[in-house]
Amino acid sequence: MNTKNTSDEHPRSKLIIASNNKGKLREFGELLEPFGFEVVSMRDAGFTDEIVEDGDTFEENAHIKAKAVFEKLGVPVIADDSGLEIDFLNGAPGVYSARYAGENATDKELCQKVLEEMHGVPEELRKARFVCTIYFIFAEDDEYSVRGEVEGYIGDKPLGKNGFGYDPIFMLDEDESMATISADEKNKISHRADAFRKLSEILKEKFDAKQ
Ligand code: IMP
Repeated sequence: MNTKNTSDEHPRSKLIIASNNKGKLREFGELLEPFGFEVVSMRDAGFTDEIVEDGDTFEENAHIKAKAVFEKLGVPVIADDSGLEIDFLNGAPGVYSARYAGENATDKELCQKVLEEMHGVPEELRKARFVCTIYFIFAEDDEYSVRGEVEGYIGDKPLGKNGFGYDPIFMLDEDESMATISADEKNKISHRADAFRKLSEILKEKFDAKQ
């Protein structure tokens, strides 16, 4: 007996997440399953081609990934791209966020590199934001892009042990960084949460899901 899902009104269709990251797959699954989608990683969908993410913006990179998978498999696909933008560095590390301190740099090395570049820069010029863009291709000519952001500033030393990436140097206020708040709190205020809310609005309008 079908007790919970909405499959009576929305037959479950496959939706590929252009990622093999388990955390992302779980989060997208939670967001998308109420809309009648069965979320599948690109590897499980049989997509193993290498995708060259050479866009200049997060939007371009998310589009490149989504398009590559859609063109090959022809089913709905979602891709995301995220990172840190620092105004004083003209938007860097930006699309290079993951490899700003070299291909295999650790999170600690990434933070260190940014701290060095921001050394001595006064607080009013340390504004930064985390950005998450999500590109959704539902069908040919039926595509959506959303951009989520959270504003903060770069601290002068790492603070906190939670999170990952640049979280310890991303200050929310004087004594709170993205790495001092709990995962639950981060999930409410983060760039990803913001992008998810925006995507959810679009999906609600499009599919009229009972959420
Ligand atoms: P991705 O595109 O989601 O894999 O993110 C690229 C890079 O941006 C990551 O390797 C991190 O260095 C950085 N980044 C993205 N999201 C976050 C975040 O929530 N906290 C800290 N760093 C992040």
